[in-house]
Parts: sequence; structure tokens; C-alpha cells
Amino acid sequence: MSKPVDSQPRPVRVRFAPSPTGYLHVGGARTALYNFLFARHHKGTFVLRIEDTDQARSTEESLKMVLEDLRWLGIQWDEGPDSQTRQDHGPFGPYRQSQRLEIYKKHAQTLLRTGRAYYCFLTDEELEAQRAKATAENRQPHVVSPYADWTLAQAQEKIDSGGKAVVRFKTKGLEKDYTFRDLIRGEITFPSDMVGDFVLLRSDGMPVYNFCCAVDDAEMRISHVFRAEEHLSNTLRQLMIYEGLGYSPPEFGHLSLVLDEDRQKLSKRKGATSCHEFMREGYHPEALKNFITLLGWSHPEGKEIFTETEAVQCFDGTRLNPAGAVFDGTKLKWMNAQWLRSLSDEDLIRLANKFNPGWFKGVQNPERFAAYLKNYLETLNDIPELLEIFNTEGFSVTPEARTFLDTHPCKPVIAAWISALSDPSVGDFLTVEKFTAIQELIKNQTGVKGKPLFLSLRIAILGKTEGADLKMIIGLFSVQSLLRRAQALGL
Ligand code: GLU
Repeated sequence: MSKPVDSQPRPVRVRFAPSPTGYLHVGGARTALYNFLFARHHKGTFVLRIEDTDQARSTEESLKMVLEDLRWLGIQWDEGPDSQTRQDHGPFGPYRQSQRLEIYKKHAQTLLRTGRAYYCFLTDEELEAQRAKATAENRQPHVVSPYADWTLAQAQEKIDSGGKAVVRFKTKGLEKDYTFRDLIRGEITFPSDMVGDFVLLRSDGMPVYNFCCAVDDAEMRISHVFRAEEHLSNTLRQLMIYEGLGYSPPEFGHLSLVLDEDRQKLSKRKGATSCHEFMREGYHPEALKNFITLLGWSHPEGKEIFTETEAVQCFDGTRLNPAGAVFDGTKLKWMNAQWLRSLSDEDLIRLANKFNPGWFKGVQNPERFAAYLKNYLETLNDIPELLEIFNTEGFSVTPEARTFLDTHPCKPVIAAWISALSDPSVGDFLTVEKFTAIQELIKNQTGVKGKPLFLSLRIAILGKTEGADLKMIIGLFSVQSLLRRAQALGL
């Protein structure tokens, strides 16, 4: 690869590089999202690279899960494996590290040839002994390899006679400070002796993360790397590899940790942490995306609810917060409710039907429930419970409501209600106006007013003394079902 010309601004190319070992975690989703928004803002390219060299943990199934979660969130990549077929698309493939082993080998050879790396034959026992000695002497446990200055011919001879070697990066000669300007944390300096000679290729030929990552970011012309804070200390090794290979490094931005409400690293033990779980809990992908965007970034106008398009407009790589971001589940629920409320009736029902086709099965014109649902929904999973009040078969009276009926002048109210509903002129469904007129009529007929009047009707409709605003739901019951309920009171 030819070196990028530094005086020219590089085209924006960013990447998300998951190691697929299960569903996409919220932290991973945020990394993906920030890279995606940054790419879209700068009209750049968003690459999805799969870091699957840990073959024992990275299964095809996990990869599928990650791709599905990204797709559900609507985070689309321009290069990488296709979300359906998982076939690579883009000019810098393959995009799976397990399929790039030859590329790493070639780069390792370059470093070996130029003396920036060497074959090291130290055994595990020898390494352990070195470590123990260094610790006892209060020194940093860096590897001191007697093979660092061997010629390639010497090493080859040992390999040919059965010697097992790793390829190590040689830090000798690089004694200086490595400074870079992190896009989130500002200037960061690592002294080179923070690391010793580190492994690039294991003795079985498998490359390690830092090596693959640096080679791939360079080969894929990545311009900016937004990734988790936990990778900050890896940056030194990666800068050394860049330097050794003669590449210009990308710009780095290390994102803060995502914390739970106790300011601990977000973990499964305290509830949902993967996008898949939020999907199953009935979250709207746009709401989750909106929420995740605010985990460590703020909108320039302080907006809390915004669309992806609005986020793209202002996501220029600034306003990213280096302090840990607290995941507030209550806020997520609130946001989800706002998002569901903002949907058109048709879109809400479409979303609900996609989520669970059974909920509105056999219901005519389910859109008529949308306004009521929007008023009370926090997640889609609340729908069955909210619909339950319309199920006449399940109608029953709570003990508290029964006591109210027994201790107040409810009987004449219910009788008048039944009589009004039985009048053929009321039609199949009540309008709010009609319902108000009937209440007025009952009041005049029975002389009952105030709480006994309103609660009698509420119990006759819902079987309980609390619950939804009757005006909001009255038109959703058929008059027949209202009658059956009132008669079921047995007054
Ligand atoms: N594969 C790494 C991870 O999943 C990503 C490292 C990086 O972005 O450089 O944490």
C-alpha cells in the first residue's frame, strides 16, 4: 500500500470492528452508531470489519446475531459482509480477519525483513521465569529476548530444525514518547517503555489483535477510529506497528465506558444489556438508537429526542464526553414512549403487528386503538395488558369496586345505563358526545351525581374504580359488549 499523503485531508473512512461472541451489547452498538453517524455526517464510508481470529469464541451464529442487531437498529455499513448473505462487498475485502491471514503474514515478513520484528524462541517456562524475576526485582515485566538480534538466517535454521517461534515486535531503538491527540481525550502521551517486545504472530501463525487491527486499519485506509476506552492502552502498540510499517496512523477517539446506575460497568447481572433484549422487550429501534446516541454525546441544542437524520447533521466528532455515560433505564422507557407516541396510527399498528402478529388478530380496524395505546404505552410489550380491558370474556369486578357498588346508590345508575344502551338509536359504538349525553340523562333520571355516578359507570365498563380515561376508550367498546358488562354486574 502506498502511504497516504498527509498534507491532503483523507477521505473519511471509519469502521466498526466487533469480535462476534454473542448479541450486540449496548456499548458495541454505541461504537457502531458513532462511527456510522460520523461517516454519514462527513459523507464518508462506514466499514464493518469482523475481528474473528479467536476462532473458538467467534462463531458464525454470533456473527449472524451481530449483523441482525445492527440491521434492526438501522445502522447500515457501506463495506463489509452483507447482512443477509454475509458475502463481502467493498474494495478492501476480505472483511473478516480469519480470511486475511495471508495479509498479516505478509506484513509480519516485512517487519522481520526490516528488522522491526524477530522470531523469538523463548518457551513459556522461560517467559514465566523472567516475569517472576522482574516482579521480585520490582522491574516492569517486559520480555528480554536473547533472540532479538538474531539474523533471519539464524532463526530460519532453528525453525527448520523444529524450533517453535512467535514473531515479536522489536521495541529496541524506539525509546521515545508516543504522543497523539485523542479526539475525545485530548493529547495523550505513552512512553515507549510502557510495553516490551510484544507478540505479533503466535507460534501457530495466528496473529494477535493489535497486529491485525493496525494492519487492517492501514490497509482499509481508515481515517478515524472511534472505539471503546478499554482499547486506549492498545494504541501505543498500534502506533509502533504503524511506524514500523511506514503507515500514517488514523485519528483515534476513545469513547467513555457505559455505566449502570451505580456507576459500575454495565453488566448483564443488572438487566438487559444487549440490543436483542431491548428488541424483545418491545423497544422501538429508533428510540434505542436515539437513547444510545446520547450515551456520551450531547446535541448542540440540548435536544433529547431527535431522528437519525438530525443526529447526522450535527455529529461531527465533537461534543463527545470523556466521562463515563450512565445508562438510565427509566429515561430509555420515557424516550421509547415518546417515540411510540410520535408514530402515525398506521405505523404504530404496523410496528406492533411486526412485533407480535397475534395481538390484533381478528380485530377489525386495529388503528382505532392507536390513540389510546399511544397515551399509555411505554414499550410494545404493554399492548396485551392495555388491550385486555376490551376483552369482555375476561370482565370481572374487583373486590374494591364491588364494595363501592354495595355501599353507594349505584343500582339505579346501572339500570339507567343498561336502558340507555338498549335503545336501538345509540348505534354500534358510542361517541364521546353520546356518552356525555347519556351521563347527563342518567343524572337527571336518577338524581345521582358526582363520584357515585362516575364510578358506577366506570365499574360497569372496566370492573374497577381506577384505570384509563373513559372518554379515551369509550368508543373502542361495542355497545353490545358494554351491555354485557353492565348486565354481568348482576345488580
Ligand atoms: N474487536 C475489538 C472489540 O470488539 C475492536 C477493537 C477496535 O475497535 O480496535 O473490542
